[in-house]
Amino acid sequence: MPELPEVETVRRGLALKISGRRILRAEFRRSDLRRPFPPALSARLDGALIGALSRRGKYILIELDADGLLLLHLGMSGRVTAGGGALPAAPHDHVMLTLDDGTVIRFNDPRRFGTLDYVKRGEEDRHPLLARLGPEPLERGFDGAYLAIKLAGKLTPIKAALLDQRIVAGLGNIYVCEALFRAQLSPRRLAASIGRGRAERLAAAIRSVLTEAIAAGGSSLRDYVQADGELGYFQHHWAVYGREGGPCPGCDCGVGVRRIVQSGRSTFFCSKRQR
Ligand SMILES: [Zn+2]
Repeated sequence: MPELPEVETVRRGLALKISGRRILRAEFRRSDLRRPFPPALSARLDGALIGALSRRGKYILIELDADGLLLLHLGMSGRVTAGGGALPAAPHDHVMLTLDDGTVIRFNDPRRFGTLDYVKRGEEDRHPLLARLGPEPLERGFDGAYLAIKLAGKLTPIKAALLDQRIVAGLGNIYVCEALFRAQLSPRRLAASIGRGRAERLAAAIRSVLTEAIAAGGSSLRDYVQADGELGYFQHHWAVYGREGGPCPGCDCGVGVRRIVQSGRSTFFCSKRQR
């Protein structure tokens, strides 16, 4: 699933291609993804002028005219591309928007866990999918002091706590594993035991891992490409994610990266370095 760096990469790539353009035609090839599309969505998109693109957690918000926003979530397997319009719809191209310069935006989602919704400008923070999101990890308001308060008393493993979008928005399995490795904290440690000092370390690790991933152009997994169709490459820099049995970078443990399953999902870590 795309996480904050991949979504941010898509947002930046898309913004370059579609911001300031007008939608000439909106073509919906089905009536729902994870949830039904709002009934008037197609009509709201037809003829709309595309403004700025922003991001909240793993959601992209696209300004439409003066009063609306298109809310987009890529789900498990969603991709959005913006390119020349001559190609016919590919399998799983569920929504296609033709712009006034001939660009066609395609929302492709084989597993259909993605989301497209319409939000009135100014009501973003009240939208059910956005209202309970925690702070953006790369903005003010997210630091060790905040994290220590949110984790205090939480009797879940720190891995699970960081995946909770109400605590911090935008992290998923990959970047939680990477941040915990960088902060030298065990994914099995109880969130309640983190305390202020470790929380400072963890907040700094989260910020640096995400910042580097965004700079690298986002990661690419099998279901994800950047908006311009190019693959990202940050996976080559992952220290532990997907590297079971491999050496731990910068670690003399001699054990290598271990994989365990927590809440049904793989966790990759070093059992010696991460405590
Ligand atoms: Zn190690």
